[in-house]
Amino acid sequence: MKAHDGMYIDGAWRPAAGADTIAVVNPADEQVLAHVPAGTAEDVDAAVRAARAAFPAWAATPPAERAARIGALRDVLVARADEIAATVTAELGSPLKFSQAVHVGAPVAVAGSYAELAASYAFEEKVGNSTVHLEPVGVVGAITPWNYPLHQIVAKVAPALAAGCTVVLKPAEDTPLTAQLFAEAVDEAGVPAGVFNLVTGLGPVAGQALASHAGVDLVSFTGSTAVGRRIGATAGAAVKRVALELGGKSANVILPSADLAKAVNVGVANVMSNSGQTCSAWTRMLVHETQYEEAVALAGEAAAKYADRIGPVVNAKQQQRVRGYIEKGVAEGARLVAGGPVAPREQGYFVSPTVFADVTPEMTLAQEEIFGPVLSILRYEDEEDALRIANGTVYGLAGAVWAGDEAQAVAFARRMETGQVDINGGRFNPLAPFGGYKQSGVGRELGSHGLAEYLQTKSLQF
Ligand code: NAP
Ligand code: MG
Repeated sequence: MKAHDGMYIDGAWRPAAGADTIAVVNPADEQVLAHVPAGTAEDVDAAVRAARAAFPAWAATPPAERAARIGALRDVLVARADEIAATVTAELGSPLKFSQAVHVGAPVAVAGSYAELAASYAFEEKVGNSTVHLEPVGVVGAITPWNYPLHQIVAKVAPALAAGCTVVLKPAEDTPLTAQLFAEAVDEAGVPAGVFNLVTGLGPVAGQALASHAGVDLVSFTGSTAVGRRIGATAGAAVKRVALELGGKSANVILPSADLAKAVNVGVANVMSNSGQTCSAWTRMLVHETQYEEAVALAGEAAAKYADRIGPVVNAKQQQRVRGYIEKGVAEGARLVAGGPVAPREQGYFVSPTVFADVTPEMTLAQEEIFGPVLSILRYEDEEDALRIANGTVYGLAGAVWAGDEAQAVAFARRMETGQVDINGGRFNPLAPFGGYKQSGVGRELGSHGLAEYLQTKSLQF
């Protein structure tokens, strides 16, 4: 697989400051695909300087021209869709069809949405005797995870560019090749030098240097709660803007009036998709006690269908982690309905699609983010009980409600402590704000709310 041996800084691929590299591994066969440079504080500093230097001109570029560059970027992503999908499949392990439809499809939609928003957004508003100007925050340090490697990048870079910010990106060490392809696309789209910069490297080295760099005005992070907490603390100490998109433990609430089979099948598909490595996955299914065993049987059958279709998880550590959670679930007394801790194949970081029944709200399975293909089914007595269970974690990223009557589902959803809820299987909307209540994060991505994260206001009184 093609890889650059340098960093994309100030509009060109430049040699890295140090000699260390990161091996990129295909999780489906454990073979090394390529090596990329492991960036240091020196590389980050060069990238931040380039972004600072480019900021005044980009901030002053008319929104219509910024929109045209983002539109061109979207078109390059479309033109190179096959190459991107193949790269995501190689370094993340997701099945090629899923890479094409979701790992390429979602970022293309998001880039397209920001091409339109940049052109139409009101960067100036009147309030009484004031004119309020919405101005770009400055240099953005973006730190992204591997689970949706291109989507997570585009969800930060596209709105930042639309706002007039410049960016330094530190992508996940497991998926740097997709990030390099993105940098090529930015270059091809004619985005001016220094507006977007890429430093590949390790979190505690390059990521840490970026999050704490004095020349960064806003840090936007997606990943684990542990790292997010540290980044938030560092940003707070420096009085810097910060956006954190962290974990989730979302509830899929099936009310008794729902189409049970549909709700269970869609729920299982949601958890198994991307091998369970989705922060907004509905990893807790809540079923009324009278329908419980029927739902468990349906879920077991549905999960078995994924045995041959599911991709591996991203790396050996993640495989160990997920298997550890499955073993813990058994040890805590949950009932294994499908899958289990034994790896289904000799080679590759595969985990069997796993379903647990008799999971109670205080079990580890029901409280911690597993980030693997593991579904827990919980039993509730009535709606109040279901709500208590649904809201009973530190997280609040997503969720789902199913009911025969849409109004009943909406009434329940309005009482959930979470940033987004899909009603009876509602579709993903790239314009709807995405982000968490409680410890699932701070700030929102996507749509106009995502754009507002990269703007600050200046009020002129007359
Ligand atoms: P992570 O370490 O939080 O990784 C996210 C990003 O932060 C990566 O680019 C990472 O670099 C970087 N990073 C790590 N330590 C850093 C530091 N001290 N300072 C600055 N940046 C740092 O997450 P992970 O290790 O990949 O996954 C662990 C768990 O996090 C998963 O099992 C899952 O529960 C959760 N997770 C959540 C999401 C989400 O979308 N909310 C996404 C991924 C993972 P490296 O790639 O070098 O580590
Ligand atoms: Mg990590």
